[in-house]
Amino acid sequence: MQKAFIRLFELDSDTMLKLYNTLIRKKMPFKPIHDKLVGLYTCGITAYYSPHIGNMRTYINEDVIRRVIQRNGYSVTHIQNVTDVGHLVSDADTGEDKLRLAAEKEHRTMRSIADFYTKMFTDDMESLNILMPSLMPKPSEHIPEIISLIKRIDEKGFLYKAEDGMYFDTAKFKSYGELTGMTLKELLDNLKAGARVDVVKGKKNITDFVVWRFAHGDEKEMIWDSPWGRGFPGWHIECSALSMKYLGEHFDIHTGGVDHIAIHHTNEIAQSEAATGQKFVNYWMHMNFLVVEGQKMSKSLRNIFTVQDILGRGYNPLAFRLFMMSGHYRQILNFTFEGLDNAVKTLNGMYSFLERLGEVKNTAKNLDTNDFKKAITTHKKLFFKALNDDINTPQSLAEMHAVISETNSRKESGKLNKAEARFVAKVMLTFDEVLGLNFAEHVSAKKEPLAAEIKKLVDERETARKSKDFKKADEIRKLLGEKYHIVLEDTKDGVVWHKP
Ligand SMILES: [Zn+2]
Repeated sequence: MQKAFIRLFELDSDTMLKLYNTLIRKKMPFKPIHDKLVGLYTCGITAYYSPHIGNMRTYINEDVIRRVIQRNGYSVTHIQNVTDVGHLVSDADTGEDKLRLAAEKEHRTMRSIADFYTKMFTDDMESLNILMPSLMPKPSEHIPEIISLIKRIDEKGFLYKAEDGMYFDTAKFKSYGELTGMTLKELLDNLKAGARVDVVKGKKNITDFVVWRFAHGDEKEMIWDSPWGRGFPGWHIECSALSMKYLGEHFDIHTGGVDHIAIHHTNEIAQSEAATGQKFVNYWMHMNFLVVEGQKMSKSLRNIFTVQDILGRGYNPLAFRLFMMSGHYRQILNFTFEGLDNAVKTLNGMYSFLERLGEVKNTAKNLDTNDFKKAITTHKKLFFKALNDDINTPQSLAEMHAVISETNSRKESGKLNKAEARFVAKVMLTFDEVLGLNFAEHVSAKKEPLAAEIKKLVDERETARKSKDFKKADEIRKLLGEKYHIVLEDTKDGVVWHKP
């Protein structure tokens, strides 16, 4: 806590954390409800397919947001649901349950489908170095909480019965659609233009949505009794019930993709505030889309990739993470394999830079050490200032590159000494608290003595190279890569090695 306090104290008002709030469509200073404790809710996956790289861009950005908040000295309770029931085919709440359909198609239970894809998702999160949420609750395990929230909505008079379920009457909620920044008429025109709203018998308004869906006769799995009959909860109600259970009825930040603004989050606000009579969430943050090679991802274009596809092509998942941070989260980002190749080069460059810092042997005293450190410290401040300015990751990465290039030019001029190198390494590690690119592994890589066997091979290769036996040198390089996952690089200062 002491450390956190000092961090906050160091910041002047210019560098205080500001976040863009979709609700008011501008940046505002971040002030949590409870002093240093922050409640953060993230819409999780619907566990019936492997998330594509566009989904994972959202989770990477949300991870950076969480890390920046933590870096500002706050302690974050992060809740991210995993939908295992209730997400209907159309986001406008019509059609069948996505998981139920998948289960029927694959002749498996909904539970096994949900468990399978949840595991795949958490594996992806791990490989992308996304911090695990404090909790990943499932609606199927919170039916009593969901039913009691629906009861409260019912008691306030917002509920009515239609043919296939209990609906929320959006006409009764005065500020419905506020999050979209559109008038109700504009919102309705927009929904109609979307042409994905089916007609449900008894549904009053086009924007009304199901909170409890009645079971069909033959449905058995994930069906529960309720005051309104047997059935299962709607998708929107799940996020309201789960977030309020773990974060309280009024909490700090709710994040999700921009595609959730018009329906899912708008409905979450309506039903939560209808039930509690108070404001639901203070800051709404939305992550923009990822396009692939300039085009929207679609099955027909065959440009939907998963993290597994990226790994399968031999890419380091952290290079993908770096690429995703190269754009601002509120802007559309264009994913290209050329861009990913560049991110690989950039990331490897950072790793080599860190490893070389550990090799600096110069112990000479420099008269201008303080000037150098001051310049690095300025970039460090600007790095965090950029992040605190609504998570400007591209700008913060530019500041980090400035640290690398200033250090490199000092090294090239023969000045960089050991203490300065250590100072820069420490700054880089501070950056990585937010970037999550595993810098620590590369800073310390050189500190571990090379295992005798590896050292012998590196030396043998060096001898072969010097005696111009390039065939042998290449064979040893290959062996080191395949057996020990070590990459060698010939520099003018001799051979250096790192683990990619
Ligand atoms: Zn949600």
